[in-house]
Amino acid sequence: MPLVTPFFTLRKSFDESAAGAEAEPAAGAELLRRLCAPAGDPLAPPRTLLALAHPDDESVGASSRLTRIEVAALVYATDGAPRDGRIPRDAGCETIADYAAMRRAETLRALAHAGISSERAVFLDYPDQEAAYRLLPLAADLRRWMIATRPEIVLTHPYEGGHPDHDAVAFAVHAAVAALASEAEQPPTIIEFTSYHAHNDAVAFGEFLCAGESPSCTVRLTDDGRALKQRLLACHRSQTHKWNSLPLNEERFRLAPAYDFTRPPHDGPLLYERHGHGVTVDEWCELVSVASEQLARTLQTCVLK
Ligand SMILES: [Zn+2]
Repeated sequence: MPLVTPFFTLRKSFDESAAGAEAEPAAGAELLRRLCAPAGDPLAPPRTLLALAHPDDESVGASSRLTRIEVAALVYATDGAPRDGRIPRDAGCETIADYAAMRRAETLRALAHAGISSERAVFLDYPDQEAAYRLLPLAADLRRWMIATRPEIVLTHPYEGGHPDHDAVAFAVHAAVAALASEAEQPPTIIEFTSYHAHNDAVAFGEFLCAGESPSCTVRLTDDGRALKQRLLACHRSQTHKWNSLPLNEERFRLAPAYDFTRPPHDGPLLYERHGHGVTVDEWCELVSVASEQLARTLQTCVLK
């Protein structure tokens, strides 16, 4: 049996006792509707914590929602600066710290374009490509920010093997939500935006790896929405080379499915393995198994506090 099971057993127990076994899907679907409603819709936008792997993920996956939702916080797990130094050097930065500072400034500029105060941005500054080595501290950080800001939803990455930091944030969000549930706290609902993942020998942007796994919605961007997305992406000047295939006409969101993070998200080589970003899939599975085991053993004593 996968070691991750206790998380979701705990969460299911809480949901069934607190809200009724049938209530959660309907409540989740309503939150998804509120998230995806167009500007001017009378549906109240949900209070949202964005849990993001990198400075720029907010613009890539959720630009259309930034001006619609009530932003509780944007929590950036990593500083966006790989420690091998090659990418910072190629970007003309003398040091890794300079590159991280540049990425933070790019993000704050993008948030300003979306009308979001810099005070809403939280930079945890774990090293880029290394979040998988810090799964428990990351989950603890996210739990603290969920308690501090009381979001209705957490908007985050799907688990799909595109980038190990995306997968690490996805795991940490699910772990933090499970921890809250075990403490009889009402946890936020996890909703995902699209990122990117392997598709045969290419890269798929803007679509979920396993479409149809859970309720989803597609937001078609208006002319103004497309212009905003382009402006936000342009703020991330150091990253523009990555987005040639990024669709600008729509964004997709869905309720997070239940994952077994101890197994690879799909057969065949993961995109981050092809690109040599951080961990291998074998390392990932081992790291998640160890973290899950530790959490399952200690969840009731609130190890994440
Ligand atoms: Zn990213």
